[in-house]
Amino acid sequence: MTHDRTNPDDAETLGSAVVDACRGAGFAAAGVASVEPTRWARELRAWLDAGKHGTMAWLERNSEVRGDPGQLLDGARSAVMVADLYHARADGDDPPLAPGEGRVARYARGRDYHDTIKKRLHALCDDLRAQHPGAEFKAFTDTAPVLERELAARAGIGWTGKHTLTIHPRIGSYLLLGGFVTTLELEAPSEQEMVTDHCGTCTRCIDACPTDAITPYSVDARKCISYLTIEHRAPIDEGYHAAMGGWVFGCDICQEVCPHNSAREPEQLSEGGRTRHPAYEPTRDPVDRFDLLEVLGWDAEDRSRELSKSAMKRATLAMWKRNAIIAAGNALAGHELAALRARISAIAADDSEDEIVRDAARAVLAGLGASGG
Ligand code: SF4
Ligand code: SF4
Repeated sequence: MTHDRTNPDDAETLGSAVVDACRGAGFAAAGVASVEPTRWARELRAWLDAGKHGTMAWLERNSEVRGDPGQLLDGARSAVMVADLYHARADGDDPPLAPGEGRVARYARGRDYHDTIKKRLHALCDDLRAQHPGAEFKAFTDTAPVLERELAARAGIGWTGKHTLTIHPRIGSYLLLGGFVTTLELEAPSEQEMVTDHCGTCTRCIDACPTDAITPYSVDARKCISYLTIEHRAPIDEGYHAAMGGWVFGCDICQEVCPHNSAREPEQLSEGGRTRHPAYEPTRDPVDRFDLLEVLGWDAEDRSRELSKSAMKRATLAMWKRNAIIAAGNALAGHELAALRARISAIAADDSEDEIVRDAARAVLAGLGASGG
């Protein structure tokens, strides 16, 4: 196909301009994707049929649209995918937790990504609408039935690793994805290429996952600490308590061990502005942890204040306390933390606490009794 680069409506010229605009809006990576149906419909069906989505029932709904992004918008002809980098290796490793502290995943330490990504996507769509009257757009970031990682791969942002997350070949996997479908005809810029799978024979994420949740290119959400702490609203199976360690919201282990997140030269990190977006600057100090005793003293107002503007609001107050009790139980197995133990005992006997909180407290106390901790 020939391209008329002097014509601003030429599909490749327009695709390049849109990708440039996405980069101008601060996204670390962007690309154009087709809206053809997924290649992974059979695998998605098998994953759902095996119940590996746990209680995330919304993943079963709209499965036709999920497998066919063109259905998101009448007349959709193209998609644009973007990625924010929320943590660069240059940001440093987390210092070890002190006994009685609980860890939160890196993606949740700054402003809520839904807000920051959607705001910029909507501004981009508004600009394009003004330039192309009649064109339609539908933006998403974890908010629509879309296989975002497959679209990100099509858009040349990265490949889907064995831990099922998108990995950019230079900036790694600490990425948050979003995008939009549009009735505009866009073609990928000539320099955009599909990224080949660089996992090779590596199995670090599989070996490091404390709950054995990963098989190559598939995660059983029911075993994953991220799912258990953020999405699962019922009691957490005691068989996973010890493996959860100090995590109270999410888990970064499979990304921490991935060689594609290893240290890079500073000039590589800053190449093309690919540093952490300012929206993900830490909002608290310390940013990576909570004091478990404090969490166990929260009421609804405390939780709202502590988690204001954060994606950590996804977990309810009861889930936060459940998670904190499990992390506290793991700390108490090796340390004498009298105030924490007393607080868990008080919760176990407090009828006003949510049942999943009391359930976790009873299970942890029983476990400590059995182990003599
Ligand atoms: S987030 Fe943690 S628990 Fe989940 S797959 Fe990765 S390492 Fe395993
Ligand atoms: S740790 Fe290894 S196998 Fe896992 S996603 Fe990274 S490169 Fe792939």
